[in-house]
Amino acid sequence: MSELKPSPLKGISDLPYYGTRGDTITLFAGPCSVESQEQFDEVAQCIADEGLTWIRGGAFKPRTNPHSFQGLGEQGLQIMARAGEAYGLKTLTEVMDSAHCPMVHEYADGLQVGARNCQNYSLLATIGKATAQSRKMVLYKRGLASTIAEWLAAADYLTQDGNDNVVLCERGLRTFETATRFTLDIAAVPLVHKQSMLPICVDVSHPAGVRDLVPSLARAAIAAGCDSLMVEVHPDPQHAKSDAAQQLTLPQFRELVADLRQIAAVFGKTIV
Ligand code: PEP
Ligand code: MN
Repeated sequence: MSELKPSPLKGISDLPYYGTRGDTITLFAGPCSVESQEQFDEVAQCIADEGLTWIRGGAFKPRTNPHSFQGLGEQGLQIMARAGEAYGLKTLTEVMDSAHCPMVHEYADGLQVGARNCQNYSLLATIGKATAQSRKMVLYKRGLASTIAEWLAAADYLTQDGNDNVVLCERGLRTFETATRFTLDIAAVPLVHKQSMLPICVDVSHPAGVRDLVPSLARAAIAAGCDSLMVEVHPDPQHAKSDAAQQLTLPQFRELVADLRQIAAVFGKTIV
């Protein structure tokens, strides 16, 4: 972070290139939704066995249809906190509503802003204030149709009260292409490294939409220089209450982690 490196993207622009943010790649893995203690513990056990640091999972779910599973709410946060404690993992979960902010802040180690709330400026400001003292990590997803400039500008709502522990997360855009769920903008990785001091995460599950595309997108994200990755994994994806098609099984996840460790090593990085 301290030493400015020349841009590897010669000719693209004269902006400084701040480089990747360290020699580790943080993997935020876990189920789309927290469904039960048993389900969440099984994933936590797997993540801990892999020597990873964080587990993710939604307790408040932004669903397209109000009749779909909305998440377990506070019960989901409790399940998550118990698993985090039991397996020695940090926990990351989405805050959908400013009113839930104090509660989520109390239970979780990291707060996620979902893509659909990228432009919910009052929520961003509330999270910025709630985390000003604790400096808990805020993972801020790019909106489905947000430009990089809009996303970076709005990130200041999160940091303006003093918490600069913010991770930007590219998660795919809405484009004309329907073969994938969203179009992953891989160029966001080097662009964020040029235009911001914040680290960049790539969520490879939501743009993929189906599990067999996930490994390739994860490899691409590491090669592009991401600072962290998000991957959804579930003990029984077929019966998942949300995002069933894209969640990896536990054996697939273990195989992916082994593969990604080798790719990260090429860049002198380790996955944590
Ligand atoms: C999620 O991470 O579970 C999620 C809902 O993601 P997004 O906001 O990117 O759709
Ligand atoms: Mn999901």
